[in-house]
This record gives sequence, C-alpha cells and structure tokens, in this order.
Amino acid sequence: MKIGRFNDGRIGVIVGDTIVDVSAACGVDPAEWPPVGIIRVIANFERLRPAIERAAAGPGVPLSAVRLEPPITWPRNLLALPNNFADHSAEMQGRSYAGAGNSLGANAAGFFMKAGSSIVGPSDVIRIPDMPEREFHYECELAIVIGKPATNVTAAEALDHIFGYACLIDVTMRGKEERVMRKSITSFTPIGPWITTADEVGPTDDLELQLWVNGALRQHAFAREMIVGIREAVELCSSIMTLEPGDIIASGTMAGVGPLTAGDSVRIAIDNVGSMTLPVEAAKPLRFSFAGHLQ
Ligand code: MN
Repeated sequence: MKIGRFNDGRIGVIVGDTIVDVSAACGVDPAEWPPVGIIRVIANFERLRPAIERAAAGPGVPLSAVRLEPPITWPRNLLALPNNFADHSAEMQGRSYAGAGNSLGANAAGFFMKAGSSIVGPSDVIRIPDMPEREFHYECELAIVIGKPATNVTAAEALDHIFGYACLIDVTMRGKEERVMRKSITSFTPIGPWITTADEVGPTDDLELQLWVNGALRQHAFAREMIVGIREAVELCSSIMTLEPGDIIASGTMAGVGPLTAGDSVRIAIDNVGSMTLPVEAAKPLRFSFAGHLQ
C-alpha cells in the first residue's frame, strides 16, 4: 500500500495515478494539531488495514489535482546514518569546505539526528540560504519508517518493526559547525512522495536509489551497498533508544553529492517506493554569524 498525506492533513491511499481519501476510515481529523494522525495509523495499521482497504476501493481523484504533503511531519525521532556508502566516504576524505572541514570527518560512525521541523514534502520547495561562501549539498537517501516500537531489536527481528519506506533528501550545509545544526535548516529534509509499505516494496537489496539535478543523474546506488544495512540500522538505533511508530531512519548517501543553488530542480526516485521533484529557491542568509565561534 502507498499511504500519505494531502490537502491539509488528509490521509490518502495512492491507487495508480489517483489518491483516495481514507481519513475517515483511519479515524483521523485532518484539522488536528499537532498533526500526528498518520503516526496513529502506522501504530494501529494491522487493525485498521481492512477498513483502509475498503475505503481505498472507492473513488479517488487524480494525484495531479491534490497537494501532496510530507507523509510524516512530527516523528518522535528523525535519525540518519553518516558515511554509510563506501564511495561517499571516499569522496569526502580530505575535502574541506568554507567554514572549514567537516566537524567529524569521514570516519564518524553511528547515527545523528535531524530536526523534525526540517521536514517538507513533495509539493514543497528546498530553500537554500543565500550565502555564496558556503556550499549546500543534496544527499539521496532511503527513509526507513518504523512501524512497531523497537528496543534492542536484533537485525534478524528488524523487518517486523519496519512499516515502510520513502524517499528522503538529506540537504546539508557543509562546514565545521555541529552536523545536527547544518542539517536541520528549515526545508532541509524533503520526505515523500508517500510511504510505501514494506510488503509492497518487497526485497530491498536490489532497490535502486537515484537523484538528478536539472535532469542530470548525480547519484545512484543499490540499498545492498549500505555499510550498515536496513536491518542493522534498526538494530543500531534501537540499541540506543526506543524507536516508536513513525520514527524515521535515513540510510545515508552514496557518492556524487554536490551543491544546490536557487533555480535548480532536484528529483529523487527509489524503485517500488516513488519519486518526487522539488525546486530550489533562495532564502535569506542565516541570521547568526558563526565566523567568530569557529576555531
Ligand atoms: Mn546524509
């Protein structure tokens, strides 16, 4: 099943090139705040699934006639893996950027966090601060969406705790500041275009992740190339914290990262999951100056 959000918080199931409003079948009030109805749907999916499938058999509207929103906007945890493809770690070795090199270099392991408030959706815009002295990069990633609470889950058990997958762009300001800050700028985590449930995605080893800028392919890899694989990522993260339904783990990116500038168009696609294209616009420079704080 492909399930997402559209038109101010409605829950929709994507059927071909249409979307069917299943908000009522899910018991979700689109006007609720905070907008966490989709997380309740994920948490209760096995119980709700028959009613959702009955509703999804009804009439839909063309996808082109709605505004798709990020499938999840308020995850409790938005986690991401660094240096998880060998070719990307290699390309980052020895690089330095204005504001100095990466704070942790290409050897960092484990995971980091991005702010949930950096999430935008497939109909949104990536807004890059107008700071010509800095580089702002795209990173093509797979979003792993947790379906069931997970504490100290083994890799062998991990698939039981995964709800589905989505495309995720980990937009990143290069530089020496804390990674979490450079990656948490508003609009720096596009997720979408919806969540495809794990049963519909099927085996993940051959999933191909691809990203284009202005129509030119910049990144591509297969999920099997992840150093910490999908199952191991759940084991790793759940060994540190309890993962909850709706939590997201970003896979890490592959070689080919590069700068985004205003006017660009970024497309990300993952087999059996979906694709989305976002424009890039300029935003005001970051108000705070870091120059005097860096050593
Ligand atoms: Mn990344």
